Amino acid sequence: MNEEIKRAILEKIKAYHRIMLFRHIRMDGDCVGASKGLKEMIRATFPDKEVLLVDEQHSDFLAFLGPDEDGVPDEAYRDALAIVVDTSEKSRISNQKYALCREIIKIDHHIETDPYGHLNWVEEERSSACEMIADFYASFREEWVLTKEAASFIFLGMVTDSGRFRFSGVTGETMRLAGLMLDAGVDTETLYANLYLQDYEAMKFKAYVYEHMERTENGVAYIDVTQDMRRQFGLNLEAASSVINYLENIRGCLCWLAFIESDEPQEGIRVRLRSRFMTVNQVAEKHHGGGHACAAGATVYSAEEMVSLIREMDEEAGKYKETHEGWL
Ligand code: AMP
Repeated sequence: MNEEIKRAILEKIKAYHRIMLFRHIRMDGDCVGASKGLKEMIRATFPDKEVLLVDEQHSDFLAFLGPDEDGVPDEAYRDALAIVVDTSEKSRISNQKYALCREIIKIDHHIETDPYGHLNWVEEERSSACEMIADFYASFREEWVLTKEAASFIFLGMVTDSGRFRFSGVTGETMRLAGLMLDAGVDTETLYANLYLQDYEAMKFKAYVYEHMERTENGVAYIDVTQDMRRQFGLNLEAASSVINYLENIRGCLCWLAFIESDEPQEGIRVRLRSRFMTVNQVAEKHHGGGHACAAGATVYSAEEMVSLIREMDEEAGKYKETHEGWL
């Protein structure tokens, strides 16, 4: 699929001496895996090129993947090729200096709303951006050097963005490409330990969430992580945001929401929306957000808006349950 655009991207990589990788704000395993994985692939294959990933964000959860490069002068961007992974809109690119680069390539698996690249390779049905990087490798296998390190980054993003290969976007092709990464020697035991191990204090927070979560009539599970809770458990925004994952396996709750109050009240309350079977992005879009069918984000600016969003989601869940069978 898309052989021409992939070939064009490879030619651009060959043509440039300096290549810079970019990804989205609020980093996750997929954008980190895709940016670091592609960086290592290019470095190993073209050792004379300068390949840089400059990003001032930090994630405690993903710190085990290692740091990125320190900042470089603006001049360095000007003659570089920018490759932006996993980022649907340019406003969500974490290092906005990407715009200084001479040419921009977008590689993404979100719905196309902003083709900001000179070349845009977008495949909405892919389960992760890392799956696309693995496919990029597979398409020109004889030309690429795939190190164990690169394969580990790419595999990690495939694992995390597909819910450990559980979501419906996972295909036979996903697994074949994941297999190619494993063939390069990924240490799955260490990788999964890094993904699953939790601090004792985080477990205590989890217990608190299960005590305090709520459920609407039609089975929308939700939790409001207030500033007080954040203070009590010493949670930064990232740790507080991970609460969404705690609510995902409640029978009959087809969608679940987490509200996370930020440090500055004027920034609003971050909402994370997740679902199985039914979709949530239409409600997210009504509240300054958007995203995928079953994983979306939004922002609400008052307690009243929070209540409205829960009500809207509850109505959607009710309609879905009335008109569909087989949900769990
Ligand atoms: P999150 O809960 O922030 O991880 O978001 C889930 C998905 O929704 C991600 O794929 C994001 O790209 C998307 N998303 C989150 N917030 C927004 C937003 N404000 N506008 C558009 N898409 C969003």
